[in-house]
Amino acid sequence: MQRCPCCNARLRGAAVCPRCQADLRAGIAAEQAADYWLGRAIHNCQSGSQEEALHALQRSLWQKKTPLALHFRNFLIAQCRNELLVLLAQKELFLAKRLLYRRRSLLPLSRQLQQLQAFTDYLLVKHGFWTDARCEAAGND
Ligand SMILES: [Zn+2]
Repeated sequence: MQRCPCCNARLRGAAVCPRCQADLRAGIAAEQAADYWLGRAIHNCQSGSQEEALHALQRSLWQKKTPLALHFRNFLIAQCRNELLVLLAQKELFLAKRLLYRRRSLLPLSRQLQQLQAFTDYLLVKHGFWTDARCEAAGND
């Protein structure tokens, strides 16, 4: 935190604002927690643990919505979209449905993913694969 959110004074590393005396320790701790969880998210993504990356990123964004964390979230959405398109091109409908379930926390954030989910459901119905038991099995492994 470079400047006081209350009066915009320069902080120069102080946890209490030198101008308005605002106690900024909680805000500084939230920033540090956001950085920690974003680092974990990036590390998990690099090691191929996408679900853990999403979970850590969500914790980071709860603490503070930094531009880097939001860019990383958009990167994960694009990555999910690309994986989904490959699965749909290979006609791997159940794997596509499973991927959508695992990345379900991204769905409210992306209209493209919502459309791909609807398209996947359409293909499942069109090819006669849609039953409640199979769809539950695709989502619960
Ligand atoms: Zn201040």
